[in-house]
Amino acid sequence: MKQLKNYINGQLVAPVAGQYIDNYNPATGEVFSLIPDSDEQDVELAVQAAQAAFPEWAKTPAEKRGQMLMRIADLIDQHHDRLAEAESVDNGKPLKLAKTVDIPRASSNMRFYGTAIQHFASEAHYMEGTEAINYTIRHPHGVAGCISPWNLPLYLFTWKIAPALAAGNCVVAKPSEVTPMTAYLLSELCQEAGLPAGVLNIVHGYGHKVGAAMVAHPKVPVISFTGGTATGRSIAATVAPMFKKLSLELGGKNPNIIFADCDFNNALHTSIHSSFANQGQICLCGSRIFIERPLYDKFRDAFVEKVKAMSVGDPLEDSTKQGAVVSEQHMQKVLSYIALAKEEGGTILTGGQQVQVEGRCAKGWFIAPTVIEGLPYNCRTNTEEIFGPVVTLTPFDTEEEVIQYANCTDYGLSATIWTQNLPRAHHVAHQVHSGIIWINTWLLRDLRTPFGGMKNSGVGREGGFEALRFFTEPQNVCVKL
Ligand code: NDP
Repeated sequence: MKQLKNYINGQLVAPVAGQYIDNYNPATGEVFSLIPDSDEQDVELAVQAAQAAFPEWAKTPAEKRGQMLMRIADLIDQHHDRLAEAESVDNGKPLKLAKTVDIPRASSNMRFYGTAIQHFASEAHYMEGTEAINYTIRHPHGVAGCISPWNLPLYLFTWKIAPALAAGNCVVAKPSEVTPMTAYLLSELCQEAGLPAGVLNIVHGYGHKVGAAMVAHPKVPVISFTGGTATGRSIAATVAPMFKKLSLELGGKNPNIIFADCDFNNALHTSIHSSFANQGQICLCGSRIFIERPLYDKFRDAFVEKVKAMSVGDPLEDSTKQGAVVSEQHMQKVLSYIALAKEEGGTILTGGQQVQVEGRCAKGWFIAPTVIEGLPYNCRTNTEEIFGPVVTLTPFDTEEEVIQYANCTDYGLSATIWTQNLPRAHHVAHQVHSGIIWINTWLLRDLRTPFGGMKNSGVGREGGFEALRFFTEPQNVCVKL
């Protein structure tokens, strides 16, 4: 059985304590590899390696750092099929999705920041009258800690490490222990690319051990975290008295608002994706669908018919639309929310149960895509993050009403609005408390734009130059002429 290794100081090494965690294939329910169960000793070695590599990497010209990221991007592309299969096996997502979204986006992230750093200019401010000039230098911080979740493993891992490295930091990174495989394969590609030892270090293991040790380490002054809101809250409590710089990308409970004048086919087709892509395990999925009352019955019937036709099964089959959810524990959590929805008075229109797949996936963790109606807009099912293939349908009558519905959760990550009335689209967009709004589309991403959530969905923004600002410390120098 494959035994993964940590990537520390340019070497693939076993965890100091010699302990391993079982890594499951969620589609078969079987253990297929072993992950280092690292602890603070491994984190310490990684931080020391990163500290030692930092002076050289920080003074490497941005162009050369960028070229290194591009080399890694090229290698990701060359190993596209292998990485996509590894992602699908590790996470349960359809192979097709890993091939078309996860892996291409991972190389785009590396390429985007490999070039962005070459266009990242610092500011100068001339003071008229006083005859002085200010210029602002942006220094890398030193060792950056990057912690990422299991839903889009390599995609979100690279989204953090690319800007951190491009800006001249050295990195200690921890992928989710539930889906470590592609980060491990990336460490092999970094060796092949010739990334200098210690510039990137990857420590595998549990969040409460490895993640917590990184967050608390006094020599890691900057932490970038993507994951659940409860974890983000505990990280914030640890780092606040240490005055660390912190970026948090957290959970969501995103509204999908459909007005009666929308382009019906486009709204219907895209809402299937925005509800169920990656088994609903994307922080940007629209899990609360609000439909203007005159369109409600027509939309509901067409939506449910399409959902019933979705094939749930072996993620490696080309025809599969819904793969496995990431773990047995997560499956139980999602099923418990479906039970809660029934208790709260919801009607299950389709789905609502575990799916038994035939053949090699007979022991896998699959849930039928589930559509629920008849729930109050502010009940627990409609306000807590489920993060699975479950959506609710709710009718509305007025703009004011749907804005109130949309804003009634503690989350504020993204929202989608469907209407052909553009003034209304803008008006509603500006009233909805979400960091990312899509009008007549979903998940259309321009990597230059600020990415992140309001309220309990996060602190700070990733994307574009925002991430490069986050991973650097500005220093203003004022010169009297
Ligand atoms: P978790 O918060 O459970 O875990 C995220 C990462 O943090 C994992 O690597 C985890 O390790 C680690 N971790 C756990 N506990 C600690 C700790 N005390 N200190 C430091 N690190 C820790 O989230 P999930 O992996 O379950 O991911 C799903 C969540 O991520 C959802 O809420 C989703 O909305 C959110 N998300 C947000 C996005 C955004 O951009 N806003 C994008 C994608 C997902 P381990 O795996 O061992 O627990």
